[in-house]
Amino acid sequence: MIMRDLPFVQGYIHMATDGAHQGWHERNGGNLTYRLTPEDIKLAKPFFKYDKPWVDTTVVVKNLGNEFFLATGTGKFLKNIKYDPEGNICIAQLNEDGSKYRIVWGLVNGGAPTSEFPSHLMNHSVKFDATGGKHHVIYHAHTPAVIAMTNVLEPDDVKWTRALWSSMTECPVVFPGGVGVLPWMVCGGREIAIATSELMKEYDVAIWSFHGTFVSGENFDLTYGLMHCVEKAADIYMRTMAAGGFKQTMQTQNFIDIAALFGLTLPEKFLKD
Ligand SMILES: [Zn+2]
Repeated sequence: MIMRDLPFVQGYIHMATDGAHQGWHERNGGNLTYRLTPEDIKLAKPFFKYDKPWVDTTVVVKNLGNEFFLATGTGKFLKNIKYDPEGNICIAQLNEDGSKYRIVWGLVNGGAPTSEFPSHLMNHSVKFDATGGKHHVIYHAHTPAVIAMTNVLEPDDVKWTRALWSSMTECPVVFPGGVGVLPWMVCGGREIAIATSELMKEYDVAIWSFHGTFVSGENFDLTYGLMHCVEKAADIYMRTMAAGGFKQTMQTQNFIDIAALFGLTLPEKFLKD
């Protein structure tokens, strides 16, 4: 068996490929990171090499010390990962206090993890604490309908959550916590990483105005499904707006009824008329 055949690497490749097929990853847009489980590490360890230098993460994520992450390489196209995983993705190990990383596998032709690695690490860190270590996947995509929607709806968590929930009945079930929205910020830096991780304390979905979407989840399928659901709801919202706007839609009581049926707790702030 070689590295690319390991189940978690296959899961990563399938998700990146599916995202590319959706049209969410033009050029080198978007990135995906996965925190390895102890079982993954056991399987992957024979392939690791420890000859690369330690590099500053620019953020300190103490609770992720010594963890391993499978990550997209910076400048790499997600559509190419399936043809050449070794050249386009890498596994990075964090040091003891989560302030540095080193590449232990992959990016055989050189390179570094995605420029959004600080955002990913901070999101992993927040979600690690918030979910007791259940969340393993952070995914960023350039989702066209969500981006279009940031052109017409102000960055307000309540307005966005209600707009998305109202567009498709499935939404409050798939993201009962709602979504957080950031105004435009410079991407790739520490500031947007901090702002996104603040949203991730409360939500599994963070939207970057005029840019795209970040989601967090337990595994590849659930995280991809969350991204897909948010993007589809945004698409329905935009189609409805293009068709002359909402003439009828779901009401607060409908959400309360869904929550009762599925045993969900929907935050009060999203249930005001
Ligand atoms: Zn991006």
